Amino acid sequence: MYGYMGKLLYLDLTKREAKEVDLEERFAREYLGGPGFGAKILYEELREGTDPLSPENIVIVTSGPISGIPFMGAGRSTFVSKSPLTLGWMHSNMGGSFAASMKYAGYDAIVIKGRSSEPVAVKIDNGSVEFLSASDLWGKSAIEAQEIFKEKYGRDYDTFAIGPAGENLVRYACVIGSGTRAAGRGGLGAVLGSKNLKVLGLRGNNRPQPYNRDVFDKFRANFIEAVTKKLSNLTKYGTPYLVKVINEVHGGLGTRNFQEEVFEGASGISGETFREKHYVKNTACFGCPVACSKVFRSLRNPKITSEGPEYESIYALGSMCGIDDASVLIEADRKCDEYGIDTISAGVSIAFLMECYEKGILTKADVDGIDAKFGNGEALLALLDKIAKKEGIGELLAEGTKRMAERIGKDTWKFAIHARGLEIPGHSPRVLKVMAIGYALSNRGGSHHDPRPGPEYAMSFEDKRKVEGKARLCYEINLWTTLGDSLIICHFAENVLGTSLNENYLTLVNSLTGFGYSLEELRDVSHRVYTLQRCFNIREKKLAKEEDTLPWRILNERIPSGPAQGFGVTPEELNQMLKESYLLRGWDENGIPSESELRRLNLDFAIDDMNSVRGKYI
Ligand code: SF4
Repeated sequence: MYGYMGKLLYLDLTKREAKEVDLEERFAREYLGGPGFGAKILYEELREGTDPLSPENIVIVTSGPISGIPFMGAGRSTFVSKSPLTLGWMHSNMGGSFAASMKYAGYDAIVIKGRSSEPVAVKIDNGSVEFLSASDLWGKSAIEAQEIFKEKYGRDYDTFAIGPAGENLVRYACVIGSGTRAAGRGGLGAVLGSKNLKVLGLRGNNRPQPYNRDVFDKFRANFIEAVTKKLSNLTKYGTPYLVKVINEVHGGLGTRNFQEEVFEGASGISGETFREKHYVKNTACFGCPVACSKVFRSLRNPKITSEGPEYESIYALGSMCGIDDASVLIEADRKCDEYGIDTISAGVSIAFLMECYEKGILTKADVDGIDAKFGNGEALLALLDKIAKKEGIGELLAEGTKRMAERIGKDTWKFAIHARGLEIPGHSPRVLKVMAIGYALSNRGGSHHDPRPGPEYAMSFEDKRKVEGKARLCYEINLWTTLGDSLIICHFAENVLGTSLNENYLTLVNSLTGFGYSLEELRDVSHRVYTLQRCFNIREKKLAKEEDTLPWRILNERIPSGPAQGFGVTPEELNQMLKESYLLRGWDENGIPSESELRRLNLDFAIDDMNSVRGKYI
């Protein structure tokens, strides 16, 4: 098969066994790769109700048909599992080169099951699999563990690892791979920690081939020319360039736990400040001409550098916590990479704690004597240490905002900033209606990679305010992001190729796979994958529309000041968009995919599960 290696690798950590399974063409055609592969495997092979931190949970590391064939983001891999944070569907995309290396090692995906009786490292060399003791690596940072592995077995191994946060089962522990890139969201590092898998490294000499090399090469050449011109801001500043624009022009930079959306200290943590005072060098994912990643240096502690922070981390650890010191954010970002902690969930959880502290709901004694007020950078750094070790107040913080609010009580749920249990990133759902409906509907929760903010940022304030057309726009964007994730390419490619499925994507996918899709068939691939993720959540939770919501603060408080003063999204507006969304997607009025739509998408195997939940609403 073109674009694929034709094999999946199953690892049973309990038995220390490896097994190869052939990739079937029909499966590849219907699910493409990435979270598409993950959705089908997880739905079929994970028993419903499985504890995400038990040996029975499954982690699927995926590539797509473009992985390993040089293109923007063609080294990005996607990790799929049941999340210990949301107890539902999770996929998280990691930059770098791991997916390319996995293909070179001979595999389209690696399915990890079971639990090793002791810390384990897995070494895969051209199809030969070894399970090795990792007892000496346990407790090491995610970065150091990879370094030691490479030093021992060869610098040409590509790796991923977990840090102490994953070992300690922090619910939003992440996976760090290809050095310092993160599969950040949803706690998949904790799932690997529960399996005692510390590090996995692989290498190989295989090379995937596109179906039509001439068409692909021409497409790629035109794309590179356009993207390097269009994304020159990303090459120079990286995503931090968004800080100033989102704060000053759009008035939607979540500040002090979304009590405000304009941050008076934004210039201290802007892209310009990072570039002028902290810049060390650019880095790039495999095959990417844009190189949006930046290595920055702390001015307070010049020995500390970090690959980041990027925009979302600046929002979560910076404006959300009221912190305007770029050096503090560089140090915090580095800590998160070493510990293996999701910067977004950590920052938003700390912001929530800071609001509780400032309101007197938590006292200084409750937070281990730390003066946890907004703007205190030292408090931020100390709290990150405590999260990774689950020490003192860190044990509560390690649970994420939803559980923190449940445990603290006193109506704090009203300002817990999450969707479906996943902390919301830095594109305001009060300013952008597409992000409002997108966060509410995203199968993983508060993710900015299911909906995308670009099309609405380009609108006037008058058009941003409108509800009409936003459900449709979100649906079209979801089709693109699901395809992009399944291919797997970088979402920034949308700036040239578009934010809805079109002839560009059709040419690209067909030149890689030779599947000869029509545009309608390609849309169905995306819709099938997104719908199956939805089915997974409904089967797990035995409910549907109840989780399609947003934080109370977002639905009930307006933005108090700035360019978007008075903006918000009401429960009625959200309901209107939800109703339209269900209709567009072939889901019933309760948000459950209809039997006819499941049949049309060849998802017949989910019909009984959906009908049994549907029965609850009658
Ligand atoms: S633009 Fe950035 S995130 Fe996207 S592929 Fe390039 S380096 Fe990676």
